[in-house]
Amino acid sequence: MNIILLGPPGAGKGTQASRLVDNRGMVQLSTGDMLRAAVKAQTPIGLKAKAVMEAGELVSDEIVSGIIGEALDGMAAETGVIFDGYPRTQAQAHSLDTILADRGRTLDHVIELDVDEDALVERITGRFTCASCGEGYHDMFKTTKVADTCDKCGGHEFKRRPDDNEETVRTRMAEYRAKTAPILPIYEARNIVSRVDGMADMDEVTVAISTILDGADA
Ligand SMILES: [Zn+2]
Repeated sequence: MNIILLGPPGAGKGTQASRLVDNRGMVQLSTGDMLRAAVKAQTPIGLKAKAVMEAGELVSDEIVSGIIGEALDGMAAETGVIFDGYPRTQAQAHSLDTILADRGRTLDHVIELDVDEDALVERITGRFTCASCGEGYHDMFKTTKVADTCDKCGGHEFKRRPDDNEETVRTRMAEYRAKTAPILPIYEARNIVSRVDGMADMDEVTVAISTILDGADA
């Protein structure tokens, strides 16, 4: 079982990916992490990537493909893979087909965590935490019981992350759409794209993803 997991920042992609790793023994392949690992391990491709990066150039698709191939070669054939942050372009999508086919693997599902942009803005911009103990709150969903007083430690100072503002959230959504727009039609044409409501409760999202994965096993 090999899948691509897609979702904008704030959709809970990281949580769902780590649950797939824990519950199903899948391996998450994030190209950024793999690249750093290959450089560190000084694999042949890692050394090539290092030279390119040191020259201040972007790592080519060929290098990225090589790194994914190296990672897959080091894995048992039955280990399922979650691709994260890859592919980003049509060329990479076609490379991925080749990389998988060369190893007798197929891409089984592309799962997109769908979010309602306005609801996501509300969810993210409402977050704040206690400056003393770190307890998390939300303007609408989890307010303090007593105004301006932390339920847990009684602190009166709260902080918000500077990134948790509407403009940043909307910019990230636009970036996400721009990144996935080139590749989604390829997979839609193969009927392997499933959408899950990323605004639902995390456990419900996990169940929905399981249903999709198990449906293909049956
Ligand atoms: Zn507190």
